[in-house]
Amino acid sequence: MTQVDIVEVGPRDGLQNEPVVLSTAAKVEFVNRAVAAGVRRLEVASFVNPKRVPQMADAEDVLKALPRRADVVYVGLVLNRRGFDRAVAAGCNEIGMVVAASDTFNQRNQGVTTEESLAAWLDIASAARAANIRAQVTISTAFGCPFEGAIAAERVVDLARRVAAGQPHEIALADTIGVAAPTQVRDMVPRVRAAVPGMALRCHFHNTRNTGIANAYAAVEAGVRVLDASIGGIGGCPFAPAATGNIPTEDLVYMLDHMGIDTGIDVDALITTGRWIEAQLGRTVPGMLIKAGNFPRPTSLTG
Ligand code: ZN
Repeated sequence: MTQVDIVEVGPRDGLQNEPVVLSTAAKVEFVNRAVAAGVRRLEVASFVNPKRVPQMADAEDVLKALPRRADVVYVGLVLNRRGFDRAVAAGCNEIGMVVAASDTFNQRNQGVTTEESLAAWLDIASAARAANIRAQVTISTAFGCPFEGAIAAERVVDLARRVAAGQPHEIALADTIGVAAPTQVRDMVPRVRAAVPGMALRCHFHNTRNTGIANAYAAVEAGVRVLDASIGGIGGCPFAPAATGNIPTEDLVYMLDHMGIDTGIDVDALITTGRWIEAQLGRTVPGMLIKAGNFPRPTSLTG
């Protein structure tokens, strides 16, 4: 049976793009519920300027309150060396750095050019090796940019090659604003794989235009074995104020489960957590399984 690993990004990418700011205790409960459902790798906070991202102002407190388990990886998102140093001091098991394929997006989101973020990554990469901490890189806006429009696949491939020079644990391709179609994913993944042979690849999809789950399917078909998702599909898109968030974890796990692909995660526990986070946020969240409910796997796959 094929295995796909899920990185739960609701506590970071999800909550960061929600108007309601949860208490530290609620964030910790969110993570604990996801772990109880079987999730083993979670993006739990971002170490960015709290003035720009007030939802993540308690990143250190969240890390301090999380129970430590040898089989659970807490990822901290960083955009520069200062964020990396904070994430390491806070006790993250892994850090995730972001470099945008679009230079305009990189400048708007991170305040520096893509070249400067690349240089920061190479510095972080050696610091991570010295600190013996796992580090990976997400190439954001890999499928499209709100400012520059379509992004050439060659640009992403070139960036992946240069990121790989820092020997990341993994490279992720992110559809940050949710514009990709499955054919684009099917085209991009093998190109990147050919450019960085042997590198672990992860994909990160948003459901902004309802193509997220289809893109996840295309990524799995293309051989990607790690996907990001957020419980309840929480989050949003800062460039499309009414948009939905990441692909919902429970919807993704349901699909994989019914395809005979193992994630180690319990769909019913995810649904319960999706309903819980919906109550915490006080709004209807986009996830579909939390409305429709679970359904048994085809009998040919059980047993
Ligand atoms: Zn995202």
